[in-house]
Amino acid sequence: MSSSPGKTEQAQETKEGTAKTRRSNQPHIAIVGAGITGATLSIALARRGIPHAVYEQSPRPAELGAGLGFGPNAARAMRIIDHALWETFMRVSTPRDARAPRKGASISKRGEGIVSIDSERDGEGEPVWIEFLDGTADVEGHKLEPVFRVPARYGDGHGAVHRARWLEVLMGMMPEGVVQFGKRLAGIEQLEDKVLLKFEDGTTAEAGAVVGCDGVKSKVREIMVGGQDKEGAKCGYSGKYAYRCMIPMQKAVEEIGSERAGVSSLWMGYGRHVLTFPVGAPGPDQLLNLVAFVTDLNQSWTSQDTRSFTFPATREDALCDFTQGGFGGTWGLFDLADSPLPSFYSGRILVIGDAAHASTPHHGSGAGFCMEDVAVLASLLEDQYGEAGLSSAAEGLEDVFSAYDASRRERDQWLVLSSRRAADLYEWRLPNTGKEHFENMRQDIERRQAICWGADLDEMVVKARANLRSRTERATKG
Ligand SMILES: Cc1cc2nc3c(=O)[nH]c(=O)nc-3n(C[C@H](O)[C@H](O)[C@H](O)COP(=O)(O)OP(=O)(O)OC[C@H]3O[C@@H](n4cnc5c(N)ncnc54)[C@H](O)[C@@H]3O)c2cc1C
Repeated sequence: MSSSPGKTEQAQETKEGTAKTRRSNQPHIAIVGAGITGATLSIALARRGIPHAVYEQSPRPAELGAGLGFGPNAARAMRIIDHALWETFMRVSTPRDARAPRKGASISKRGEGIVSIDSERDGEGEPVWIEFLDGTADVEGHKLEPVFRVPARYGDGHGAVHRARWLEVLMGMMPEGVVQFGKRLAGIEQLEDKVLLKFEDGTTAEAGAVVGCDGVKSKVREIMVGGQDKEGAKCGYSGKYAYRCMIPMQKAVEEIGSERAGVSSLWMGYGRHVLTFPVGAPGPDQLLNLVAFVTDLNQSWTSQDTRSFTFPATREDALCDFTQGGFGGTWGLFDLADSPLPSFYSGRILVIGDAAHASTPHHGSGAGFCMEDVAVLASLLEDQYGEAGLSSAAEGLEDVFSAYDASRRERDQWLVLSSRRAADLYEWRLPNTGKEHFENMRQDIERRQAICWGADLDEMVVKARANLRSRTERATKG
């Protein structure tokens, strides 16, 4: 009897050999930053068997004890990233309108990649994203009626999480040992077939590519554009700052009543607005997230290098800002509106999340767009380097990054600009806003939120994949 393997075994061996070759040729991805974007990207890559390491500057997971609202676009992105992640989000997040718990909504598609929900939720009982109030009205908080409501439409997944707890959830889903803490990136050297990361502690690491998920003050972005003075290197001051706090729900109810505290509310006013929404399940641990925004006519923050983004502030500072104007300051809001990146990648370096499109938070969608980024990037990397990948060569990275840039940049940069405008609308700083124009304002806000929430992520990924395929085929023919 022959000891040589039969055809099927040979085919099997060849297949395994190819898979092994693929795996050894897969570029190792270095993720810089283990915030919400970096941690989620790690989960997405682990699910797709793509080797990676995460480098985080903080000695331990670092997030704020503040609330974070997600929309249905973010939930759809999570479903693409990892089904278990989506299930967890749907289970632990607080629905936007606590008075209208989630029902099964059927999703249908409208033109232009916008998803809509069938009208099961229309009319009575339709969940509310935010109730908008006239904050200048001389009426006690618990008696104030909304001047208009913006419904929470475009599918399931409107919900809020506690930032720090959500990061714990993400950390728990990342592969064991993949993240190294205390690694503050100082430099990147692009070599012919790899990159060399240099950390402030004097250590280095090699990788096939770097994905910068290092947030608003991204070092990766600065290196990618060629230095501190280049376009897109630094965020600019948006001209607004914010006070943030979490209030025990019981205390909030005493002040403004359970009706108002139980639903997301936005108090509008001249040059100021206040947003509140509940975070956590009803009960003794439930909190009310409060963010009070101020238009800073003194332009108190001018450079991100000379001053921190945050200042300690007292209750009196905040009260002063909301009664007489003037600077109390605590949280400067910086973005890339004045200096958008001409490209999200250069060679083997890519930026995603806030590192690519730091935005003010006025559509409540910054982190949601980060989830979209991760869904698209992970799908492209899977297509290129997964088991049935288009290419095993690390050179194909540029195709992935350019397909990613083509898919994401326009939408991400729209958010940055539209978010700034939204705040001016809430603060009656634009023409046709203010007391006489509530209906006009409602329509404007609904149109913009439709762009945020209505994105059809499945279609976006299909288009990005087709783009990658055409680039890879062109490269093969060439
Ligand atoms: C007041 C406010 C309210 C908001 N509310 C909402 C909301 O309700 N909904 C929403 O969707 N979005 C909201 N956002 C936006 C949202 O917070 C961001 O879009 C999101 O947190 C970005 O996540 P990220 O992981 O990209 O960046 P980050 O959260 O900034 O994480 C970056 C990580 O990189 C690390 N890092 C930085 N530099 C280095 C380095 N050199 N080396 C190694 N590691 C490094 C940091 O330590 C950090 O862990 C809000 C923003 C603000 C300011």
